[in-house]
Amino acid sequence: MTDSFPELKPASRILLGPGPSNVHPRVMKAMMSPVVGHLDPDFVAIMEALKGLLRAVFRTANQLTFPASGTGSAGMEMIMANLVEDGDEVIVGINGAFGARLADCGERQGARVIKTQAEWGRIIEPDAVEAALKSARKPKLVAIVHAETSTGAHQPLEAISALAHRYGALMVVDAVTSLGCVPVEVDKWGIDACYSCTQKGLSAPPGLAPVTFSARAMEAVNARKSKCKSWYLDLGMIANYWGENRVYHHTAPITMNYALYEALRVVLEEGLEARFKRHRINAAALHAGLAALGLKLAAEEGYRLPQLSTVSVPDGVDEAKVRAELLANYNIEIAAGLGPFKGKVWRIGLMGESCRRENVTLLLGALEQILTGLGIEVARGSAIAAAADCYAAE
Ligand SMILES: *Cc1c(COP(=O)(O)O)cnc(C)c1O
Repeated sequence: MTDSFPELKPASRILLGPGPSNVHPRVMKAMMSPVVGHLDPDFVAIMEALKGLLRAVFRTANQLTFPASGTGSAGMEMIMANLVEDGDEVIVGINGAFGARLADCGERQGARVIKTQAEWGRIIEPDAVEAALKSARKPKLVAIVHAETSTGAHQPLEAISALAHRYGALMVVDAVTSLGCVPVEVDKWGIDACYSCTQKGLSAPPGLAPVTFSARAMEAVNARKSKCKSWYLDLGMIANYWGENRVYHHTAPITMNYALYEALRVVLEEGLEARFKRHRINAAALHAGLAALGLKLAAEEGYRLPQLSTVSVPDGVDEAKVRAELLANYNIEIAAGLGPFKGKVWRIGLMGESCRRENVTLLLGALEQILTGLGIEVARGSAIAAAADCYAAE
């Protein structure tokens, strides 16, 4: 019987796409720890530690900070399902695929979504958010994506958060691709609810969604007139499990929590500032190398993420062919563009464990070779040299 279902042997890839990123061996090792019950004293101690570790990476003192079960999207849905009631006015910044998802998610919760749009690759301007806040009767929240993984845009949040509060709204942030790569200042920036994932900047496998809720957000949850429409993501019941009471709601994914625990230890051992700096340095080298190859970045200058770069595909180049060759001959995964960027950009991720000098060098060398093979004229050796100069200048 099992002859036709052989042992799993997935390739060991260099993951330079928009996530997942490569997983640290210490995290894989932690996942081999024995599975205990979800109310076992050992697991309860891990839960407490996880809350503390997550507060450190989110830079918050929020009591309710924990990993929700499910990938980053579950974090999004948990926040929207618990903060939004029928008819609430919700302002969503849309400058890429993930902003559009937030709007869709809000609409499914019965919100009246006011969309603040910007062109793909650009950031959402505070003025546009203020206009939307002014147009609302009683805005419940502003939701915005910090790191738009579909475009590579790095959204400044402080001014928008101040505006949201001035108009009596909560500030909700998608930090799925930012946490662990660039600063996410939950308390300093006045973010009321924030969600992330395990498989991008934190370099654990996918499966949990770190979330944090301010006291103000919890007041809104507690003041609901209607029950949360999602049973699985109901914060009241889940807070009872992650809080003092330990009331069973659903079985926590034990092994994934081990993984996140170890991944956060790795992050904090490196130090957040050192980690952010590593992302900046490797991105600068990548960008210098891409420029030497004559490739252009698609995100607005001055607002480019270090951990995710969108690169315009040169005219006449079959973008899928380049990705296929990277995978087949160099073992490297990068990603295609989404929506309006489909066929037009490549998305290159340098997240967490994947964000390393040797990966930058290998990718640049591979791209040079592949583009040359496609008849594109590039100055041989220039990309790796440009990157090396960048590293040397550090
Ligand atoms: C990846 C991503 C998500 C979705 O996260 P999943 O873990 O895939 O559910 C949401 N928002 C942004 C900005 C992302 O990059």
